[in-house]
Amino acid sequence: MRLRRITARRSPVHGMGLFALQPIAAGERVIEYKGELTSWRRAAGRQRSGAGHTFVFGLSDVRVIDGSRGGNSARFLNHACSPNCEAIETGARVFIHALTAIAPGHELFIDYRLSVDGVLTDDIRTRYICHCGASSCRRTMLRGNAESA
Ligand SMILES: [Zn+2]
Repeated sequence: MRLRRITARRSPVHGMGLFALQPIAAGERVIEYKGELTSWRRAAGRQRSGAGHTFVFGLSDVRVIDGSRGGNSARFLNHACSPNCEAIETGARVFIHALTAIAPGHELFIDYRLSVDGVLTDDIRTRYICHCGASSCRRTMLRGNAESA
């Protein structure tokens, strides 16, 4: 049996986060982002009731992976503007890979690059303000081109 490489615990950035327990090499596959394969519409309906974390992963087609249903600890991945991980889509599955070497104890991050359907309101903007603290921080978890509609 392999040693557990990652764990979810309280993050200094936001809510729960995912942390390395073992050294992770650059390029290594860390975890699959699991959840129910569903539509944006259905997932958005579920999200409205909950606040805070975003558990929905948009695929390049019209579907999403809803980590709040049948998901694993990958749903606790926080956003950073200079992330140490990236999500790679393979068919209808998403795997989280390390972009850089990650030392034990360090939090794992991906760049959410969220896109918003319809008008980008101040409310949405406020909800997705980024606090990652990187010098390159965009101050938002939204996709770079997500300007006012
Ligand atoms: Zn940031």
